[in-house]
Amino acid sequence: MSSIANAVDTAFDLSYLNFPKYPPTQIKSIGVLGGGTAGYLTALALKKLHPQIKTSVIESSKIPVIGVGESTTTEVVPFLHRTLGIEPERFFREVKPTLKLGIKFDWGCPGDYHFNFNFFAGHQQESYYYEDSINNANWASVLMDANKIPVIRNEDGELSSFLASIPFSYHIDNKHLIRFLNTVVRERGIDIVDAEVTKVNLDEKEFVSSLETNEGQKFTYDLYIDCSGFRSRILGQALKTDFIPFTDTLINNRALTFDTPNNGVIGPHTRCTTMNNGWCWTIPMREENHHGYVHSTLYCDEATALAEVRAKYGNIEKYKMVEFRSGRHTQAWNKNVFAIGNSYGFVEPLESTAIQTAMHSIMTLCKLMPNNFEDYASIAGINSEIAATWDTFRWFLGIHYKFNKQLDTPYWQWCRENTNIGDAQMILDLFHQRPPLSASNFGTQSPYSTLEALVFNSYSYDTLIYGQKLLKDPKKPKMTKEEYLSRVDSYHELTKHALTLKELFDSNALFDQEILSQLFEDPDTWIVETEA
Ligand SMILES: Cc1cc2nc3c(=O)[nH]c(=O)nc-3n(C[C@H](O)[C@H](O)[C@H](O)COP(=O)(O)OP(=O)(O)OC[C@H]3O[C@@H](n4cnc5c(N)ncnc54)[C@H](O)[C@@H]3O)c2cc1C
Repeated sequence: MSSIANAVDTAFDLSYLNFPKYPPTQIKSIGVLGGGTAGYLTALALKKLHPQIKTSVIESSKIPVIGVGESTTTEVVPFLHRTLGIEPERFFREVKPTLKLGIKFDWGCPGDYHFNFNFFAGHQQESYYYEDSINNANWASVLMDANKIPVIRNEDGELSSFLASIPFSYHIDNKHLIRFLNTVVRERGIDIVDAEVTKVNLDEKEFVSSLETNEGQKFTYDLYIDCSGFRSRILGQALKTDFIPFTDTLINNRALTFDTPNNGVIGPHTRCTTMNNGWCWTIPMREENHHGYVHSTLYCDEATALAEVRAKYGNIEKYKMVEFRSGRHTQAWNKNVFAIGNSYGFVEPLESTAIQTAMHSIMTLCKLMPNNFEDYASIAGINSEIAATWDTFRWFLGIHYKFNKQLDTPYWQWCRENTNIGDAQMILDLFHQRPPLSASNFGTQSPYSTLEALVFNSYSYDTLIYGQKLLKDPKKPKMTKEEYLSRVDSYHELTKHALTLKELFDSNALFDQEILSQLFEDPDTWIVETEA
């Protein structure tokens, strides 16, 4: 090669720009307290992305995991399979998830009304203008109403899958997931200690110096990750980090959970149904449906909740009450403690945000891992990123409560009159000036853009606002009615040939006909390495 060619190669060699995605750190050991979804996912991610750090888990088989948390968002799919490298086929065989195309909300307007909130962009504007409903806005929504999925049987009997093009998430039975993650954690060489932490020792600077267990063991790490659930054993109890309740936006604090038979139908969506004093989820599993009536104890006692559930869902015998609180601590990172999952914050489960936010916290930690405990800039960055995410979810959920007109009970009257929607008011104002939000280019530094968080982008706000029929005087869209209706026809035509989830699982086509492998190997699949 000529010297000029050599010089050109050297001058334009940009390989030096390949900075490590997960920066090196002086932190050598991490103890994760908690073996729930948050604790196990954290340990797996640390082992994968910061393998030089010695990560261990302490959990107590005497303190049960929360046992709910079964509806997820799209981020979970790339996170599990790309980031953590969990093999999809094994996951489908052992955890047996079902697929979720979105949420079906029995919500917004009085009577027998619903709107679909899915993960796929659509033409809500046209749908709303021409049909006064957004449920034909895209193929995924039409599939949801027909209880079908984007896998079609062609005229020749062969299957064509469009799962690589239509984002979905999983419904996951929590006990299956926990059992599976526990196995993977052990297989990957992460130590798990089964003991109850009864004492958190602090040094003179109020940093955690060790955790003591009921069996008299003492464990010392550089960094302590608190995944102890609502107990918040280290961040809340030991460090007394202040808690900010979200009660003026979200007043629910308890769920009555129960199962019902699915009668052979596995819906491809979570269903959220308005109830007299809150709402009830339906999460379809392969063998039965899981439900939870989320309500406020200020408005509804156990007997009232149970009577309402029985009147609507049949004679429920077995049920469980799960208490929770919505809000967050002032800091996720305090001293040498970082909290992930319910121990840091939670907003009630209407939009299935908790596991997604735990994953987001995990990735934020892995990407901004402080160099040491004096690296205040990285720590401040982590804290503000995570706090902003929870606050955005709070306001986003607030829009659901303030504008749901389906029922007129005292509970819903209170919500409509009093729900604080904070910064989301600006989104509503912008929407009314220039609907839909997804058509506007606000620029990355605009106040609007800072309110987009994780999965909730301009399409999500559009869906929620159109879905609850908040726009009174829509303008005629550019697309003609004929063009719009011809698209809707194509969605319905495809849907006629689409499979149900039950057909997909019963036929074993996921494995036999390579639907699963094609989904992950398709060069254009939406399931790519996550930055969540
Ligand atoms: C009603 C309800 C519905 C929900 N629905 C959804 C949903 O649909 N989608 C979603 O994404 N999220 C949902 N969530 C949230 C979700 O359940 C949790 O965010 C998720 O399961 C993570 O929980 P966790 O790991 O933080 O806590 P947990 O599951 O409570 O785990 C806590 C762990 O800490 C251990 N532990 C605690 N104290 C000690 C101690 N002193 N010593 C040793 N070990 C200890 C326990 O043994 C356990 O292993 C829901 C939550 C509620 C309340």
